[in-house]
Amino acid sequence: MIILGSGAGGGVAAYQLASRGWKVLLIERGSFVKDGHASHPISSGLDQQSYLVNGRHRKLTVGYGLGGGTEVYGAVLMRPHEVDFAPGQHYSNLFPKAEWDWPVSFAEMRPYYEQVENLFGITPFQAQNELPAGQTAPINEHLHQAWKRNHIASGILPLAIQRNSCLECEDCPGFLCPNGSRLGVRHLIERAMRSHDLEVWSGFHVLQINKNRGEALLENVRTREQKTVKASIIVVSLGAMQSPALFLRSEWEDSSGLLGRRYMYHAGGVAAGCFINQTQAGERFVKQLGTDQFYLGSPQSNNEKWGVIQSLPTPRLLPSFIRNRTYLMMATVEDIPQADNRITIDRKGNPVLHHRFHSFDLKRSKDAVRILKGLLRMGGAVGTIGLTADRNNTHIGHQVGTMCFGKNSKTSVLDPYCRPHGTERMFVLDGSFMPTSLGVGPALTIMANALRVTDWICKQYGK
Ligand SMILES: Cc1cc2nc3c(=O)[nH]c(=O)nc-3n(C[C@H](O)[C@H](O)[C@H](O)COP(=O)(O)OP(=O)(O)OC[C@H]3O[C@@H](n4cnc5c(N)ncnc54)[C@H](O)[C@@H]3O)c2cc1C
Ligand code: SF4
Repeated sequence: MIILGSGAGGGVAAYQLASRGWKVLLIERGSFVKDGHASHPISSGLDQQSYLVNGRHRKLTVGYGLGGGTEVYGAVLMRPHEVDFAPGQHYSNLFPKAEWDWPVSFAEMRPYYEQVENLFGITPFQAQNELPAGQTAPINEHLHQAWKRNHIASGILPLAIQRNSCLECEDCPGFLCPNGSRLGVRHLIERAMRSHDLEVWSGFHVLQINKNRGEALLENVRTREQKTVKASIIVVSLGAMQSPALFLRSEWEDSSGLLGRRYMYHAGGVAAGCFINQTQAGERFVKQLGTDQFYLGSPQSNNEKWGVIQSLPTPRLLPSFIRNRTYLMMATVEDIPQADNRITIDRKGNPVLHHRFHSFDLKRSKDAVRILKGLLRMGGAVGTIGLTADRNNTHIGHQVGTMCFGKNSKTSVLDPYCRPHGTERMFVLDGSFMPTSLGVGPALTIMANALRVTDWICKQYGK
């Protein structure tokens, strides 16, 4: 069994398959940085290559290294809403069913969400009447109470962070955790390496795959030496930008014409509030509070579906006087799948991004910013500013789509078990499979789906 890519999907798949008795080889282009070896914030864990985005070279916010995005992520592992799996009541007038339909239901996914939550020691998000004492920054307690007075329920985010060792870095996330308090799939990979038959090759770039021969062509990123690896089952999990690029480089025959298409990364809105009293956002970790009150919309937002709202760290560039009087919030706005938003490849086979938000997304992003500003003012902010999704096309951490799964080979690239339609022993287990972007960060769903499919692989192939 070969797994190409060690991020959220690939890392969980490697852990699960090795734990169930498979001999697994995991290949990753980036390096393997163990706990305590990251030098914050220089060794950032982000991809340093630039990519063409709408015709301009850009550096993108994506993970690079063993653990992929989960080495630099915000560790908010949130379950989507049931409606996310059947968003027809929100999108049926905009898109045909085939473009937003999920071939699995929330009920089928639920046991796998629970398994991932158990692995990371978290419980699902729930709005709370009172926040647990001593677990959050005072500004969050203050906002929680202010919103409660206005009938808006909030709670502590489900964070895969070990509180007892966490250093409360004010700018977390976006870089490697200096002491391993932020839990990602690397921790699962290391566990499986200690107890099971899991071998990791880091520093190898996957150049091509060949389905007929069951092979992958690799290049050592340091020496440029090439070699071929072979297995009866191949799992591809390079992320929603790199996986379709690999299939395109490998001249994959895709009868749907959708390979690389329906690229999404959330049309989020962000707002900052300026407070007279200290928020401490410049000196401690405040990214702890969230609300799902507007998840399925509200009268103020024309009852249009968005997603969860949560706090954010303040940008490092601001002076600490300002950071300590600022509080940032983000609304996750589900962006809709559009065929023209896509990944292609350049002459060298590198991914190229083409993306424009739909006017429906921009409208909801604008509405979201308005609601965020209102929430900040409710908590006492004396001034607010906001940014809509179209202001930044490099922050693509939540990228999904590009190889959507579905029952029909004419309207999807992968089958419900995430195999390219018509193939038997090749699986794509990263964010590419998602037909819609959901109202929450994708990491929990990508990991739960990897458990769902690897469970099926074990049943199908006898482990
Ligand atoms: C700053 C930041 C904050 C985030 N915060 C959250 C959050 O709080 N909650 C949440 O749910 N999500 C969050 N995300 C998103 C989450 O991390 C991703 O959705 C998730 O990691 C994607 O998983 P994946 O398996 O699709 O790909 P990735 O995790 O990106 O893994 C792909 C792996 O493949 C490797 N790779 C790519 N190409 C090749 C190649 N050709 N050869 C070899 N290896 C290759 C990459 O180096 C990488 O390790 C965040 C992301 C970022 C960047
Ligand atoms: S805040 Fe905690 S989890 Fe985040 S980087 Fe610092 S020590 Fe790690």
